[in-house]
This record gives sequence, C-alpha cells and structure tokens, in this order.
Amino acid sequence: MLTQENYRWDQAADIVILGYGLSGAVAAVTAHDLGARVLLVEKQPAETHCTCSSTAMGVFLSLSDIGRATEYMMALNQVGSQPGLLWTDAEMVKAWVTYTAQNKEWLARMGGQIKYFSSAAEFPQLPGADSMELWKYRGHGLRMMQFMYDLVAARNIDVRYQTSALRLLTDNAGRVVGVKMVDGRGGTPKELNIRATRAVVLCTGGFEEDEAMKLQYLRVYPMYFAGGTGNTGDGIRMAQEVGADLWHMNCVSARLCAKFPELPLGVFIDFSGGGWSQRSMKTKKEKAPAGFIIVDKYGRRYMTEELKPHAASYECGWFDSHKLEYPRVPSYHIFDQRRVKFGPLAQRTSGPTGPHQFYKWSWDNRVELQKGWIAKGETVGELAASLDMPPENLANTIATWNRHCRAGRDAEFGRSPLELVPLDEPPFFAIRLFPGGSNTLGGPRRNGRAQVLNPFGEPIPGLYGAGECGSVFGLLYPAGGGNLAECIAFGRIAAENAVKENYERA
Ligand SMILES: Cc1cc2nc3c(=O)[nH]c(=O)nc-3n(C[C@H](O)[C@H](O)[C@H](O)COP(=O)(O)OP(=O)(O)OC[C@H]3O[C@@H](n4cnc5c(N)ncnc54)[C@H](O)[C@@H]3O)c2cc1C
Repeated sequence: MLTQENYRWDQAADIVILGYGLSGAVAAVTAHDLGARVLLVEKQPAETHCTCSSTAMGVFLSLSDIGRATEYMMALNQVGSQPGLLWTDAEMVKAWVTYTAQNKEWLARMGGQIKYFSSAAEFPQLPGADSMELWKYRGHGLRMMQFMYDLVAARNIDVRYQTSALRLLTDNAGRVVGVKMVDGRGGTPKELNIRATRAVVLCTGGFEEDEAMKLQYLRVYPMYFAGGTGNTGDGIRMAQEVGADLWHMNCVSARLCAKFPELPLGVFIDFSGGGWSQRSMKTKKEKAPAGFIIVDKYGRRYMTEELKPHAASYECGWFDSHKLEYPRVPSYHIFDQRRVKFGPLAQRTSGPTGPHQFYKWSWDNRVELQKGWIAKGETVGELAASLDMPPENLANTIATWNRHCRAGRDAEFGRSPLELVPLDEPPFFAIRLFPGGSNTLGGPRRNGRAQVLNPFGEPIPGLYGAGECGSVFGLLYPAGGGNLAECIAFGRIAAENAVKENYERA
C-alpha cells in the first residue's frame, strides 16, 4: 500500500471525484454548490465518453411515501426469516429512501426535463410496493447526461478527461488524502498525484467489463452488459487496497440480453415488439404485439417470459451439478415471422442500439439476418437443427405453447393471457441470449453518510462512494429506475458529507 506523507503533489482540490457518470456529475454539482473546489476525473476521452448512465433508458425512482418505501426496501432486503440478516442495513435504506423521495424535485429544480412514467414495482406482492414512483428523463439517459454535462460546464468545474485513477493515496494514519492517476492526453501518458484536501468520492461504476471479476464474483459466467465500457472495477480494487469491505458482489440488475461477437456490449432485445422493456415496467398491460418464448439450449421453456427486467438473469444462470453445465446459457428467444414484421428486434431506448447509436439496427432486421445474428428456419425442425438443439424438443415446446395459446391459459408457467400469442407463422427465428443486461451492483460497502467502510464497519477517513460502485441494492432490485435514483440520491449524500471534512485543520 502506498502510505507516505511526503507525496509530490501535482494539483489539489477539496473534493476529487473519480468517474463522470450520473453519480459523479451529481456529486460534483452538489459539492461545487456547497462551495468546494471540485476535480472530476474521467478515464475515457470526452469525444467517445459512454457510461452506463448515458446508455440508460433514463427512468429514475422517486417515492410517493417514505414510510411505505422503507417497508418495501426492508422486505426486499430481508433474507428468509432470520432476524437481522439483511442484504442492506436499515441505516442505508433510510438514507436512500429519504433522498430518493426528493429526486424528482432535485432534477426539476436544476432545470431537468422529467415526466411521470409509472408506478410499477418489480415485486408488487411485497408490502409497501405501492410507494414506488417511476419518473423518466425526457429523451432517455443520453439526454439526461447531456443535461448534467451542461450543469457541470456552467459551473466551470474542472473535468479531467482521458485520465485514469490508479491508486488511492493515504497518510500514515490510513486516511485517503489523494489519488495517483495517469493523464493520457497528449502523446506520452503522465503520472500525477492529486491531493484531495477534504475527500475522494468513488463514482467509477461497477465491473461489467472486467472478465476476471465477473468470473470470480457473479453467480454465472459468462454475463454480458449493455453499457459502461469503462466500468472495469477500478474503484473496487482501489477501495480494497485501502481496506474497504465489499458487498453485493454476487448481485446484479440484469435479465437476458443478446451478445454478438462484432459488438463489445450486450444488446437488449425487444422480445415482443413495440418496446418490450417499457411495457414490462408499466402496470397497465396491453396486448403483446407478437408471440415469443424463451427456451434453454435443449429447446425447453423454463420460466414465464413475463421477465422481471432486473432479476430474470438469476433464473437463466441455474447450474446443473449432474451435467456440469449451465443448461440455460445460452438461452434462445424463439419467434416467428409475425414478430419480424413488427420492426427492429433490438431495443431503441437504451444500450448500444439506443440513442447512442453505436450500432444502427435495420428497420426490417434484414442486415442482422444476413450477419447470422438471427437464426432462421423454414420449419421448426430446420431452426432447431441450426441451433444444435434436439428438433423434437423444440417442436414439442412450440406445439405445447400453441395449445396454451388456444386454451387461453399457460398451464406450465402461468404467463399472462394477454401474452398468449401462438407461434404459427413461418419462417421461425431465434436469437441467442445470455444472462446480462444493465449492471453489476457490488463494490465497497458504505454507510448512510456514503462513507466507505472497512470490514469492521468503521469509515475509512476521506473516502466516499456513490452510484453502482457498491450499490445499496442486494439480491433484489426495487423497480425500474433504482440505479439512477441511487446516483442522484447518493451523489448528493456523498458530496454533502464530503465537503464537511477538513483534513487540513484536522
Ligand atoms: C443499457 C442500460 C440501461 C439502463 N437503464 C436504466 C434506467 O433507465 N434506470 C436506472 O435506474 N438504471 C438504468 N441502468 C443502470 C444505470 O444506468 C447505472 O447503474 C448507473 O447509470 C450507474 O451510474 P454510475 O455513475 O454509478 O456509473 P457510470 O454511469 O457507469 O459511470 C462510471 C464512470 O466512471 C469512469 N471510470 C471507471 N474507472 C475509472 C477510473 N479508474 N478513473 C476515472 N474514471 C473511471 C467510467 O469511464 C464511467 O465514465 C441501465 C444500465 C444500462 C447498461
């Protein structure tokens, strides 16, 4: 560990914020407005900067009732019936709930363009679920981040792009006093020691793009994610070095997504057409435009396809200890010509095929068929053969599914009657799916003041965290918009407490 008090400092700021996603931006604006000198450090170049926040759909939670929301969060966090064994402690829940209830007012006060989206909690059967209120930034996450970049620029906050934070610097008492980073601008990378006279805030996101960490910490491998190309777990390693405890490392906010070798990120599929994920987060169900099912690699359905948008990946990641394999990795999205006619199979609201437009999916899906991303068979048997799947299994599965549709009841998995659309319009198609989607949740454990804690629950002086780098959420995610809500809530909490630190006078 780097622990000397005689560092050669290249620059100083009161608050050094690592990572310029939503949590970093909110922390920077808040700390600045409280009078602090802020340095915002981002490892990606400005021109190609892409974060989980900017690829997001832009849905964020606000809450209609703090008491009911606390009840819901505590129910989500309870592990079985064991008293006191919780994914996230009551103090953190209280902080998240208190600040999240103010999210829409905060964004609106800053001049953000927001609108009401829905009140659909992910787990409506739990007490307090009716308190979840989903709001949306107009124009998705990219527009929301452009708004945040404008707030930062209007304040002349010092932003250092193309500069990677490498290590946290501590004094001999273990207090975080600065950051070693490498400035990649210009020809030769230059190492810098930046002093943080009050605190460092970790806003470096998760580990969606670090294969070794995903292998070690997640419940299934591989997993793919649809945003956050810069999220390689850097903040987690830096926090570990100075003694941070980690939590929620095996938890994700994820479902099933496609992954094509030519694209670095996972792709969200619009399963039934007409904006599947938007519909899945709304309470009001409309008739699904086209039928689809999801099957394992042997051609068998294994769950209702009314997927939990932020938890379905757990179902996909089941391991068969007899066969020594993950039979659901890959899974397949199976559909017919009816779905192809409904338009692009990739979602246009978020991820690489969303407003960032890293990849422009063709309107009639023809280009992706030609690329081989979508498998096709004139018959079910032909499709199964192209997927290396026992043809009789897929044929039986589709025949059974069509019987459920005719009967108006899914006798196997209880899928909503509104979604019972048969697969009977050839040709038939499939897209390979993997567990994955939005983001990882694990990282350094924090308290309700956003201070990073050591394994004994004591704050590491001078170190704060916000956003998905050590998220408040454990196994279960409350509702669409939870992560952006956390960025807005904990960006503010971290900044408000960090500015109160005064190392110089300590
Ligand atoms: C496709 C998609 C859609 C989503 N939709 C929603 C949604 O609608 N609502 C919702 O609540 N959540 C959504 N999520 C999740 C949500 O977007 C993220 O959890 C949230 O934006 C994370 O914000 P953050 O500030 O923690 O990290 P990020 O926005 O990922 O930003 C982290 C930043 O840190 C930088 N960084 C990393 N390491 C270093 C380093 N060493 N030095 C300097 N900088 C570094 C990265 O380059 C990056 O710019 C979605 C996620 C995805 C991928």
